[in-house]
Amino acid sequence: MTADTSSTSSARSSSGTPMIRMTGVDKHFGDLHVLRDIDLEVARGQVVVVLGPSGSGKSTLCRTINRLEPIDSGEIAIDGTPLPAEGKALAGLRADVGMVFQSFNLFAHKTILENVTLAPQKVRGTRREDAEKAGMVLLERVGIANQKDKYPAQLSGGQQQRAAIARALAMTPKVMLFDEPTSALDPEMVQEVLDTMTGLASDGMTMLVVTHEMGFARRAAHRVVFMSDGEIAEDSTPEAFFSKPKTDRARDFLGKIL
Ligand code: ADP
Ligand code: MG
Repeated sequence: MTADTSSTSSARSSSGTPMIRMTGVDKHFGDLHVLRDIDLEVARGQVVVVLGPSGSGKSTLCRTINRLEPIDSGEIAIDGTPLPAEGKALAGLRADVGMVFQSFNLFAHKTILENVTLAPQKVRGTRREDAEKAGMVLLERVGIANQKDKYPAQLSGGQQQRAAIARALAMTPKVMLFDEPTSALDPEMVQEVLDTMTGLASDGMTMLVVTHEMGFARRAAHRVVFMSDGEIAEDSTPEAFFSKPKTDRARDFLGKIL
């Protein structure tokens, strides 16, 4: 275990219960050991940016947190409640964890407003009127309320990703996971999505963000977690990580991207 744990005390919220807590999490794909003894705590309201080379396990880490991927051993708890293996309780907990992917994954044959209002009605049992009211507030918040009756293909990539963020927020998640949310976007659309995410962070959302946008990491992250070969190799503040990475692997990574 090579993780730098010097900053983990800052991972605790004042109330004591971390919003995300991973303890000794291991995950294999066949012979490939993709997550190795991961210990990670994210406090309420904290923004953690996950960096690391391609194939280091960043996406798998995200996917285990809402059990899109099962783990082999260890424990993951959201706001103090351990993730159950399966069943109805899992669906409820999964709803607490919003996820936004590189590909926007919107329902192509539903309007933007329908995309945002579907899950609250189906999973939470919200009345349509109420879901639409709440959905419009969210579309305002991400700046695309005037697009509500359009279909995803009629929107720009940046607008689609903001719709995907609104759709995740519609479930009133406790945690938002972002897996390279701007990687599929044309460059001129990256900033509007990052701005939306920065707004969320300012509103106090707990966020785990896999990104290659170093500007966002420097400005918005409370912590940077650097993954390498399925391990958390460093866990520190953005200032410390970017100015004085502690491991050769992180120095090598930064040398390639900066
Ligand atoms: P990252 O997001 O950091 O690029 P991933 O978490 O996607 O890394 O992948 C970590 C490793 O696990 C890679 O070697 C990848 O090829 C492998 N992997 C990811 N998903 C699967 C899967 N469903 N089946 C088998 N191997 C996988
Ligand atoms: Mg990935």
